[in-house]
Amino acid sequence: MNRPLLNPTATQPVGAKPRPHVRGRTFDAATEAIFRQRRIERALPTIRFGCIGASIIFAAFFLRDRYLAPDRESITLTIRLVVCGFFLLLVPVTQIAGFHRLIPYFVPFASAFASACVSLICTLLPSGFDIGIGGPLLVIMAAPAVSPTAMSAIVMCLLGVAIPNLAMLATGQPWLTVFSTNHYLVMGGALSMGIAILLERDARRAFSLEVELETAATTDPLTGVFNRRRFLDLAEAEVARARRYGHALSVIMFDLDHFKQINDRHGHHGGDQVLRVFPSRIDKHLRRNDTLGRLGGEEFAIVLPETDRGAAVAAAERVRAAIAAATIPVGSTAVALTLSAGCAELAPDDPDFDALLRRADAALYRAKRAGRNRVELG
Ligand code: GH3
Ligand code: MG
Ligand code: MG
Repeated sequence: MNRPLLNPTATQPVGAKPRPHVRGRTFDAATEAIFRQRRIERALPTIRFGCIGASIIFAAFFLRDRYLAPDRESITLTIRLVVCGFFLLLVPVTQIAGFHRLIPYFVPFASAFASACVSLICTLLPSGFDIGIGGPLLVIMAAPAVSPTAMSAIVMCLLGVAIPNLAMLATGQPWLTVFSTNHYLVMGGALSMGIAILLERDARRAFSLEVELETAATTDPLTGVFNRRRFLDLAEAEVARARRYGHALSVIMFDLDHFKQINDRHGHHGGDQVLRVFPSRIDKHLRRNDTLGRLGGEEFAIVLPETDRGAAVAAAERVRAAIAAATIPVGSTAVALTLSAGCAELAPDDPDFDALLRRADAALYRAKRAGRNRVELG
């Protein structure tokens, strides 16, 4: 069953006190995945800007290479063009949706490539790392802005320090050069890593608030299913989709029978407990892309995409039979429950979802009048 994305009770055992899925800065796996995806989406413009900026800076520094080592002009130009081409190619590649989840891994790789190329150019210039260290340092300092996770920024900084050091070791640079170069690289790396960790902490706090607001706006707090507003939005979207592809779509409306009596016998808290457990009881009778919402009180509705009236009636009947056959524990007693259901299938002349819902409601009314604990088709 299609549940609220950030549903606090989605993974709860029935009747358990809802466990917040966002606690401080630690998220459960599903929420963590959404957090990462949103951070990547937000980092994309900065990454694209960084790629274009890096290309321009790389190209511009060819003038310095030429001034310092005119005899190596062709090799330094080739290296710079390769790097510029690589970064410019990345701009359209970052538009590919399938590539997005690789970005936390790819960003350190791309920056390591840039560091390696700058280090290579430094080894080709007579003044070497003494004046060429600005390049690797820039790459390190860009880490917090272009990395969508603190971890990828840390890897980027560590590689940004390690690669020039390897180049200096390999080319036997004087110790004073190694010392002064590392002075900048290590300080810059530490600063960048600190900023990346603080940014991630702030991003997690902001995301927690975002989740809380999103959950409050879309989820029914008692049952954990979509609230009326969100359900109607999703249902309208499903109607539009069904129309576009010419697919069937049905809706089932449920109303629990004699619920006032349940409240009278077991108290309002007992009634609440029945409502809380109800969605988990019908969950297993629905498909993954069916959407359940609480319309209000003890009235629920389900949108069933790609389902004609016959299949909708069969699904409603399965739910009705399952609810009638079992009881719901409330304190030390077991509450027997029945429901009535009205089904309707989207017709070509239905102007919107509301028209479909009204037909399901009329069928539900007939089910009530016919004696309850039954399913009617509208
Ligand atoms: P019927 O079979 O005709 O549907 O009878 P009914 O008693 O269920 O009648 P009706 O649908 O008119 O009444 C619904 C009752 O559900 C009234 C209200 O007190 C109760 N109710 C609505 N929302 C809640 C809730 O959030 N918690 C509890 N405990 N009760 C609720
Ligand atoms: Mg009722
Ligand atoms: Mg009612």
